[in-house]
Formats: sequence, C-alpha cells, structure tokens
Amino acid sequence: MAVVQVAIDVPVDQLFDYHDNALQMEEGSFVLVPFRRIKKIGVIFRINPKTSLPIRDLKNIEEVLLLPPVSPETLKLIEFNSKYYCHPIGQVVATFLPGYVRKTKNKDKYQSVSYALTTQGRTNGIINLNSRATNLAKLLDYMKNNDAVTAMQIRSLSSNGIEKVDSWVEKGWASRQIVPAFPLTKLKNKSLSSSTISGGLSLTEDQLSAVNKINSNLDKFKVWVLHGITGSGKTEVYLEVIKEVSEKGGQTLVLVPEINLTPQLESRFQRRFPLLNISFLNSKISEQRRFEIWDDARAGNVDILLGTRLSISAGLPHLGLIVVDEEHDSSYKQQEGLRYSARDIAIFRAFRSNIPIVLGSATPSLETYKNGLDGKFEIIKINSRPKANLPLISVVDISKDQHGLSICQELVKKIKAKLKNKEQTLIYINRRGFSSALICNSCGWVSDCIRCTARMTFHKKINKLICHYCGYKSSKTECCPACDSSDLYGPGQGTQSIEEDIKLLFPEAKVLRVDSDTTKTKNAFSEMRSRIISGEIDIIIGTQMLSKGHDFPKLTLVGILEADSMLYSSDYSAPEKLFQHLIQVSGRAGRGTKDGEVVVQTCFPNHFLFQALRHHNYDLVASFLLKERQAVGFPPFAYQVVLRAEAQESEKLFELLREVANFTQKISEVVIVHDPSPAIISKIAGRFRGQLLLQAKTRSSLSFVVSRIFQKLQKKQITHVKWAIDRDPLGI
Ligand code: ADP
Ligand code: ZN
Ligand code: ZN
Repeated sequence: MAVVQVAIDVPVDQLFDYHDNALQMEEGSFVLVPFRRIKKIGVIFRINPKTSLPIRDLKNIEEVLLLPPVSPETLKLIEFNSKYYCHPIGQVVATFLPGYVRKTKNKDKYQSVSYALTTQGRTNGIINLNSRATNLAKLLDYMKNNDAVTAMQIRSLSSNGIEKVDSWVEKGWASRQIVPAFPLTKLKNKSLSSSTISGGLSLTEDQLSAVNKINSNLDKFKVWVLHGITGSGKTEVYLEVIKEVSEKGGQTLVLVPEINLTPQLESRFQRRFPLLNISFLNSKISEQRRFEIWDDARAGNVDILLGTRLSISAGLPHLGLIVVDEEHDSSYKQQEGLRYSARDIAIFRAFRSNIPIVLGSATPSLETYKNGLDGKFEIIKINSRPKANLPLISVVDISKDQHGLSICQELVKKIKAKLKNKEQTLIYINRRGFSSALICNSCGWVSDCIRCTARMTFHKKINKLICHYCGYKSSKTECCPACDSSDLYGPGQGTQSIEEDIKLLFPEAKVLRVDSDTTKTKNAFSEMRSRIISGEIDIIIGTQMLSKGHDFPKLTLVGILEADSMLYSSDYSAPEKLFQHLIQVSGRAGRGTKDGEVVVQTCFPNHFLFQALRHHNYDLVASFLLKERQAVGFPPFAYQVVLRAEAQESEKLFELLREVANFTQKISEVVIVHDPSPAIISKIAGRFRGQLLLQAKTRSSLSFVVSRIFQKLQKKQITHVKWAIDRDPLGI
C-alpha cells in the first residue's frame, strides 16, 4: 500500500493525499477519487511521498482511468507554471489538459468495452454457427481476424451483435475487457524523407542565411530572434527549418496568435509537407478533437503541431524545435485564470528539452529585443521582401482639415486611383461601433455606462449605445436622457461611421467591414477572407483583427485613422503597442508583386513614432523606448507583478491591497511597492477594480515575495474580494 498525491481542480494550491488501493498507476496517471461529497478526476503527481498523515485516515483511489498518463515533461511544465504564476496546481492541470478527460461524465466515451475470441471460441462451437446469418458470419470473420474488437465496431457489423457476443462470453468463447476507446498508439505510416517532395520557393539570400544559421545549431538550446520586416518571408524560413527537423525525426511545435490560425496558413503547411502528420489546435476546436490531437501528439505521431497558446502544454516526446510566430503578440498571454505567457513558457520548455526556439516578428517585443542586444538571444535580420518593396508611408496632418469627412482628401484621391486599377484598400481603425460616445450639445451629458467608468459606444445599425466592457445596452439614443434635447453628437469615428462615409464617397465600390461585430458567427471571418483574396472586395474596413499576419496579395493601400488616441495613453506600454500595430498594419500593403502605400492621418505629424514609421525604422523606436524604460526603471529593466482585485465595495478592495502592500514591505527590502491604485477602468459592471504593483530588479527576489503573498491570500479565504496575481503583466 502506498500513499499517492493527486492534483485536483480546486482553488487550493496543494496536492491531496490518497491510498493507492493496490491499483497499478504511475506519475501522470488520471484517477477517479472521492473528494468531499463528490467524485473528481485528478492527476497523480507523486507516488510514495513523505507524508505525516496517518495512513488509515486516507481515502482510496477509486479507479485508474484508461488514459495515457500525462508525460513527465508536461507534469514539469504544470509544476513550473503553478509556482511561477502563483496558481493552484490542480487549476493549472485544468488549464493545460483537455477538458474532455477531466469530466467524469465523459469517462465512458474514452474507455469502452472490447471483445476477443478465446482459444476455445476459435476452435469450438462458433464454427457450428448457422451460415445463413450473413451479418453474424461477417462479425465472426471480423473477430477471427482481429485480436480486440470494440463494442462500437460490433454494433456497426450487426445490430444485435453485442447480445450475441455477450452470450459467447458466457459460454467461454469470447472474453470481455475495458479498453481505451481511442487507438492510443497509432502507427506512423509515412516515410520522413519524402517530406521534401513538395519543394519550397527558392530562398532569398537573407532567408537562406537565416535557415543555414538555425539549421547548423539544431542540437542545442538556443533562442533565435527572427527579426524580419513584414512580408519578408519569415514563414518560409520556419518551413525550411521544420523540414530539416522532421527529416531527422523530430517534432515541431509552432505557436501562432489566435487570429492567425487560418485555413490559408493551414493549407500552406499541408501543401508543403503533404506526407507529414500536421495537427491544428485552437480554442474553437471541439473538446473531443482537442483530446485526440493531444493524445496523438504525446504518442509521438504528430510531426508538426500548429496551434495557439494552449498548445504549449502538449506532450511531444520527440520535440526538436519550437517556433513562436509574431512573438510580440498579446494573445500569447492569457488574461484570466492562469495568467501565463505561452511565449515565455515556450522558452522554458526549449531550455529544458535542450532544443532551439525561433521567435519571429517584424516588431519584436522590447523584452525580446533587449535580450537580443544583451546577447542572451541571437538576432537574425531579414531586411528585404522577396517580391515588392516596403510600402511608401505618408503622414498627413489632419489637425487643420476642415472638410468634415473622416477620410482626408489625399487618401480619397489614392483610393480612387486604386479603384480604377482594381487594387484593394484597407482602412484601419481600431474602434468598432459608430463613434466613441454620444455627447449632448445642450447640457454636456456624456453616454457613460451606468455600471462602468467607461463610455458607451454608439452602434447605429441597431440604434443602441453599447458598453464594450460590460456589454450593457441602452436604447436612449434619440434625445438626451438628462435634458431631453435632441442635439446629440458623436465625436470620433468607429468602424460603422467610417463605413457610411466610405459608401458615400465611393458608391460604386464593394465595401466590407471586418470587426468583432461582423465576425461573430463561426465561419464569418474565413468567408470574408476568401472574399478579399478573390478580389471581389474593393475596400476593407477593419480593426486590429486584420492587422496581423494576413497575406492579401491585391491589397496595395492602407489608410490608418484615429491612431492618435493611443499616443498619450496612461499605460506605459502603449507607445510600444501602437508602433507594433502601425508597422503590422502598414505591412499588409504591397505583399504581392506590386508595391504598396500607406497613409496615416494624425494631428501630430511630427511625433517621433510617425516619423520613425515613415522610415520603417523599428530599431530606432525600440532603442528610444528602451532608454525611456531604463530611465524610469520599468520592464524590461525590472520585473513586475500586479495584484489585481475587484469587489462590490471599494473600501474592502483597497483595505486588502493596503494590507498586502504593508506585508510586502515587511518581508522584503528589495521589492518596490507602489501605492494601491484604481485600475485604468476602475469600475466594470458595478464592481470596483484596483491593483497593487510590485517591482524588482530580479525575478528571484520577486518570486520569493509573490509566493509568500500567494500563500497568505490563500490562507485568508477571502470571500468579498476577488483577487488574482498577474506576473509579467502586459501593461498596467
Ligand atoms: P512573413 O511571414 O515574413 O510575413 P511570408 O512568409 O508570409 O512573410 O511571405 C510573404 C509573401 O512572400 C508570401 O506570399 C510568400 O509566399 C512570399 N515569399 C516568401 N519567400 C519567398 C521567396 N523566397 N520567393 C518568392 N516569394 C516568397
Ligand atoms: Zn442634455
Ligand atoms: Zn459597462
């Protein structure tokens, strides 16, 4: 009899002790255990640990599930995440392993009954079966030729087959056992060297040198930063390196931002490697499919796993390479629950597996860029595009523009020319809806959300004001709720009002608006993409959704509106994000054979960011921003943790934050404790939100403090304040 420790999905950071009940299990096994009054599925983390509990007090493991155990590698990742991000270990398991296997009700789906003929059955009575029953004869034939036949297979061969076979079991002709419902170890039915059949493009000099550098260092941990301008063919470089890795029998994990995992990218990989086993994973995939991919990957059958951040925990026994595309993208950081950064975990994983990792971006994050400058990572640059040139960017001053349209004259002229040439234009504006808010001209009323400290946005089509933070809708849009005046106006522009302006200006053009309102249904986005690629659309109006990664060959003009709102944000990371956006959006122009152009409308044409943008000078901006960050001691020159909290009562919230601030000051002299403050949106849906920022020069001093805070808060069992620890926050 041994004691085992199990991770269970509850908000308490500990493993729970059980008796092994003399069952066969190993570390990583899924088990069914009694927990409080119910049964839960957990994962074994330790067998025979030191425990002070009297053994007779322990409950028994009830059942070891017929699932492949979690790989040691994934167990390590889970433990690391739990410690580093201060998140209960059972909940990390819940984040990282497919939900499908953790639900007790699914148990019968992934383990099923299987039958086999016994020796007695093969030699005896069955031979005397009535041969006129053709279904039965077929079933018998099938069972003779297969060592194990599932109940499902039997049912498909003969509708009353199960009863028949059950009766054979009673006679001793067949045996019956519980088996996994999925073929857990599939055979590889391909030869790896044939992956080269579908050759790639002939590489540019820059691409070739990048490929050669990486390929000659495949046998050890190294972080490569592939800093290639937009459209420089980074994906082509990944493909060449992946080819080399898979020819050697290695598996590759390719992480992409959620929005980039498109049919276009999928088919690009499939076309290139028709004989490799490629799996695609994102949050929209069904739970069962996610489980199948997860199982296939951990069995070593997937050659390339291409997926969003949740793929980071997949078991990949022959992992030889990790690629993180658009490594600066904010979607790699989960913003609720386990607030992990898949990019950072990927680096940790590559280090542990002693393999290379490629971080690709046209706009590397400042922390990655700094690691490159410091020599921790190695930067590889690609400064040219294989086909067209980088777009010509003009910055237009609209501060004195009086004609009252959202699109300046210069841009109007250019759009006309594109329409004539049958080329496409993208109008980029990062605000959906009609305008930022409604304002009453008579009394100054503003359409504030009644539940948040945020303004509601006017959506004209449904004639409603909508709060983009809490979803609250108000239909009072005809007249002012305060003074009844009908003199309401909406300053600023959203996607909907731009769409109206564009349709007025270019009645003959085919216009498509792509934002989260028009892409709600499942296939809407990919349908829109194909309409753009086919050339059917002339003018696309889009938000951030369209700024990253997409390749629209006919798109040659990009207009950027309303960029100014981010110039003077209170978030210190706003300029970095804005510049990344600007470069990425601009990069959508001229990716085919024709050069592109970009028009930026701003009231601050001389602003440093816009000037740098004109010259596509990312390095200039990065080194400028790094100096700024260094001067104030902000990341990447320091490490941060934000304790985020929300509560019905503002007083309780700040009481807790102050208490943690005092506690931190007591236990550490090196961690800087800022004053508790309201969050940028200080109230959402009627709940107050506040935060406490802690900062340190080293990760280790911060780790020490944060884990003490975590333990303290866990013990307190706070009910009136919801809190979360956000390590390495994206902004504050
Ligand atoms: P990135 O990932 O850097 O944005 P892509 O790999 O998507 O760039 O390449 C941009 C475009 O250039 C794609 O249409 C791609 O097919 C094409 N391309 C890439 N490399 C080459 C090359 N060596 N020769 C010709 N076309 C290329
Ligand atoms: Zn009013
Ligand atoms: Zn609201």
